[in-house]
Amino acid sequence: MNPIFADLPTTVFEVMSSLARETGAINLGQGFPDDPGPEDVRRKAAEAVLDGNNQYPSMMGLPELRAAVAAHYRHWQGLDLDPTTNVMVTSGATEALAGAIFGIVRPGDEVVLFEPMYDAYLPLVRLAGGIPRFVTLQPPHFRLTEEALGRAFSPRTRAVVFNNPLNPTATIFPDEDLALLADFCRRFDAIAISDEVWEHVVFDGRRHRSLMAVEGMRDRTVKIGSAGKIFSLTGWKVGFVCADAPILKVLAKSHQFLTFTTPPNLQAAVAYGLCKDDAYFETMRQDFARSRDRFTQGLERLGFQVIPSQGTYFLNIDIAPLGETDDVAFCRRLVMDHGVASIPVSAFYAQGAVKTVVRFCFAKKDPTLDAGLERLAGVARRAA
Ligand code: PMP
Ligand code: GLN
Repeated sequence: MNPIFADLPTTVFEVMSSLARETGAINLGQGFPDDPGPEDVRRKAAEAVLDGNNQYPSMMGLPELRAAVAAHYRHWQGLDLDPTTNVMVTSGATEALAGAIFGIVRPGDEVVLFEPMYDAYLPLVRLAGGIPRFVTLQPPHFRLTEEALGRAFSPRTRAVVFNNPLNPTATIFPDEDLALLADFCRRFDAIAISDEVWEHVVFDGRRHRSLMAVEGMRDRTVKIGSAGKIFSLTGWKVGFVCADAPILKVLAKSHQFLTFTTPPNLQAAVAYGLCKDDAYFETMRQDFARSRDRFTQGLERLGFQVIPSQGTYFLNIDIAPLGETDDVAFCRRLVMDHGVASIPVSAFYAQGAVKTVVRFCFAKKDPTLDAGLERLAGVARRAA
C-alpha cells in the first residue's frame, strides 16, 4: 500500500464528527453551520434537479457559473478574469487543491507550507513528489516575516500553498504580509496556490484581499474558492479555480482525471447565488459575527481564554492557562465526558505543534451554542 495514505490517520474532522455522532455530543468541531443555508439558492438547485440538465456538464464548469465567478470576483476583489480562460469549476476546494498541486509540483520540487496548515495540503504535496519546506507561524498574530520566508524559499521552490483567512487560527494576513509573500514568489519564480475559501467570512468591517490582486501576482497565483463556505452549504462541494490561462490549461488536465465534472444542478444554483446583492453577504457576515460574539462571551464567562477571531467559522481557546499541555487529550475529554466536540489545533502541524490551542466552530444557532456552553460549564473553573 502507498505509505503516504497507509500511514496517515483519518482526518481529525471525521474523527471528531464520528465521536460526536456516536456519543450524541454537540458538534462544535468540524466547520459547518447548523442553518440549512439560503432557501432561494437551495430552491434553484432543486429546480435544476427537476427541470435542468442532469447529464455530464462541461468539464470546465457551466458557462453561467464561470461567468458568475468572474463577475463576482471583479465586483468583490477587483480581479480581471476571463471566464473562458481563467476560471474552472471543481468538486470543492479540496479537488481544486489536489488538481493544482498535482498540476504544478514535479517530483523533487520544493513547496513552501505554512503551519498551522489545513490537513489536506501535506499529503497532496507528498503524493506529487514535492518536498515540503515549512514556515511555522507564531501565535498570537501568525504573521509572515522576511526572515522565515528567507529560510524556506530557495531556487528549488516551485510553489507555495497559502491560506488566507487562515483556518484554524481565524486570522487574516495584513496587506503588508501579502506584499512580502508576493515579493518572494516573484524573486524565486514560484507559483502561489492561494486557498481563499474563507474570503467572504470576515468580520468587523474587514475586507478580503486576494493574493492574486497583489502587484505582480495576477499571472502566478492559483486562486481557490468554495461555494460551500460562501453559502453555508458545505456539503455541496462546488469549488472554483482561477488562474492565468497557461496555468489553468494544465490544471484542467489534472481535473479531468480527478473528478472531471461537478453536479450541474448545484453549479446552476451557485451561479445564481454568486449574483446575489451585497446585502446577502453583509448580513451573512454580521450573523456569523454575532454568533462569534455570543460564544466568545459565553466562554469568557466560563473562565476560558479566547483568542479573538477575525474571520472563518472558528475561534480558538488557549488551554495553557488551565494547566493543560495536551490538546488531543483535552478534546477527547470534552467530547467523552462533557458532550462537546472540538478540534485540537495540533492536527494542523506536521512538526513542532502547538499543543495548547483548541478550535471551536461557532457557526451555529443560538440554542446550539448555548447548549454547548452549558456543557462546558465547570471545565475551566475546575481546572483553575
Ligand atoms: N481549505 C480550507 C482552508 C478549508 O477550511 C476547507 C474546508 N473547510 C477546505 C479547503 C475544503 O473546502 P471544500 O469543502 O470546498 O472542499
Ligand atoms: N474545513 C473544515 C474544517 O476545518 C472541515 C472539512 C473536512 O471535514 N474535511 O473544519
